[in-house]
Amino acid sequence: MTDKDKDDIKLIKKAAQSILKDEIKHLNIVSPVALKLLRLSNDDNTKIESLSQLIETEPVLAAKILNQVNSVAYALPTKITSINRAVSMLGFSTVRQLALTLQFHSKLTQQNSTKSFDLLFFWQHCLYVALLSRRIAVALKYPDPDLVYTGGLIHDIGKVVLENHGRVTYSDFIASIGNNKHSTQEQERSFFGITHTDMGHVFCLEWQLPASVTAIVACHHNQPTETSQFAEFKTEIAIVAFANYIAWIQGIGSANYDSHPTLQSALLQTLGIDRLNLETLLQQVDQDMQSTQEFYDTHLPGLTTLRATLVKATINLSQISEAKAFTADTSNRKSSCLTAPHHSLNPKDFIPRTLEALQDEFSFDRSMMFMIDPKRRCLIASYWWPKSILPAELQPFEVDISGISGLLLNCLRAKKAVIIDAKTEPGNSIIQRLKTTEFIAIPVLHHNNLVGLLYADNSLSEKPMHEQLLPEIMPIAYELGIAMFNAKQYGQEKKHAQLDHLTQLFNKRMVNNFLVETFQEDASILANIAVGFIDIDKFKLLNDNCGHQAGDDALKIVADILRHSIRPGDFIGRYGGEEFLFVLKNTNEAGAKGYAERIRSEIERRGKILSQRFHGQIMTVSIGVAMYSPRYGRYADMIEAADQAMYRAKNEGRNRVVLLSDKK
Ligand code: GH3
Ligand code: MG
Ligand code: MG
Repeated sequence: MTDKDKDDIKLIKKAAQSILKDEIKHLNIVSPVALKLLRLSNDDNTKIESLSQLIETEPVLAAKILNQVNSVAYALPTKITSINRAVSMLGFSTVRQLALTLQFHSKLTQQNSTKSFDLLFFWQHCLYVALLSRRIAVALKYPDPDLVYTGGLIHDIGKVVLENHGRVTYSDFIASIGNNKHSTQEQERSFFGITHTDMGHVFCLEWQLPASVTAIVACHHNQPTETSQFAEFKTEIAIVAFANYIAWIQGIGSANYDSHPTLQSALLQTLGIDRLNLETLLQQVDQDMQSTQEFYDTHLPGLTTLRATLVKATINLSQISEAKAFTADTSNRKSSCLTAPHHSLNPKDFIPRTLEALQDEFSFDRSMMFMIDPKRRCLIASYWWPKSILPAELQPFEVDISGISGLLLNCLRAKKAVIIDAKTEPGNSIIQRLKTTEFIAIPVLHHNNLVGLLYADNSLSEKPMHEQLLPEIMPIAYELGIAMFNAKQYGQEKKHAQLDHLTQLFNKRMVNNFLVETFQEDASILANIAVGFIDIDKFKLLNDNCGHQAGDDALKIVADILRHSIRPGDFIGRYGGEEFLFVLKNTNEAGAKGYAERIRSEIERRGKILSQRFHGQIMTVSIGVAMYSPRYGRYADMIEAADQAMYRAKNEGRNRVVLLSDKK
């Protein structure tokens, strides 16, 4: 460490102390056990015994670890009761990681939940960054994935220190920033006199955490330079910084407020991200998150919340670039048009907004967006501004692509912007139908594929349209292309994350989300809710006799029958291997039982028809139904009740429906 480094550290320590209510040494940020675990990470000499001893001092932790090792997933013949054995079973690295995450989680979730800085949300961010960092490390064959996991988990610890011990808190900070357009780091510095990364750095030094972890905490927003004391950890830092960036752009940020971090090009060079298969990584981390959520028994914010955060972050980001564009060049009048496409992920919002901005900035009289229908090979006017431009008699306004000629054809083929006027192309169908003397046509592209066509004219003012407008509008069409692609991608990903791969029914996470929401309804609505648990009978036998593929087919068939049985407002999903769950609203005992019975008999009927295919076995299901009762405090109680009823159906001979109600 150079003298300058030492001076810098003295300065940030001083700045940190002046913003904190208590002496840094006495801060109670994480438990002593967690601190020890943090120090143990990265230490290859740690013995299993010392880790076990540490865990044994924390009863809740010990119980969780034993519970995990004895869980069905490991299917052990006898129960394991010693932590030492549990550690050797689960593996040193897994246990250390479980323990650390649990410590961090319990500390965080005990605290506030009403403040602007939502600690559960924050925890989810840390966990996501930790899990993704580890996956990236494995994919890149980086030798110590556990280290980046730890770094990812605590990278934003400075925010927790400020929230819990600041003279002003992180919640105060979030509440204060409003629409400020500066980067979060700059804003933190002007609010606290120190950034969260500096505060985290001080924390790591004070608690003597390993230098590598300290480097991640201190530098995850700014890659270290070659001469920095942290230069040797640039790979670890880059992994966590990249994971952090990915978390933010997916709406899994550390707080429900700001813009996402920037991605430094040095980081991409360090990592060589071409070596990463992002799709696989994201899928793996989704699964990791799911199992972690089950382990800690928490509910993380659902997709809608994340989506809202993502939209907010995108809006904020576009406002920042807008502010920058304005300060960089005040004569740059296109900036609002350039950012308008990124104000939302919904084309119905951002396309009209872009058209409006286009008119404001360039004072066109009318503008329009044509979408492409590839099947019918036509351009369809899908958005227009002002609203009066397309009166009902002109709708739908479609242009057959095969009938296009002249300059417009050139525009579509060569993918370049053109101005078309009535003198040279009197026969152009758009000119004729929209009664304009000239118009601008700009292809909207993504990866050089045509996704739409932007139209603008000055038909009222008859102001001439100049060629030099074209290069000014091209970038707007370019941004629109990206925004449309993002919107499509987002829609697909969202759907993907909600559905079970095999059956295309909602997955377990969605079932749980749906029930969480349902349980927030008024008592009068709750009273008429039924949950049904469906389990295929002797499914193992079918798998054993006919093979796994036939088993998969049977699951798809059952899913198909379920899909066709539901009415609007009902909900159905795959809950586990051969288990499905339905939720009915506005029903009563007779209604719910009748519904379940219809499903049961339809599956039996189809099962008989298909019995040849399944080597003579008839596919049937047992269904347990539970009507809501006030004694079910949580939705999980109701699932449990339906599950019990299903087991009764199994015991009573399978292929039947059993209803559990208060009245029996
Ligand atoms: P019971 O009538 O008591 O429900 O008996 P069962 O055999 O249906 O129940 P058990 O829980 O013993 O077995 C369920 C089987 O489902 C075991 C597992 O291999 C199989 N399974 C779970 N998920 C899938 C899947 O996605 N595809 C296939 N083919 N089989 C699956
Ligand atoms: Mg089963
Ligand atoms: Mg079964």
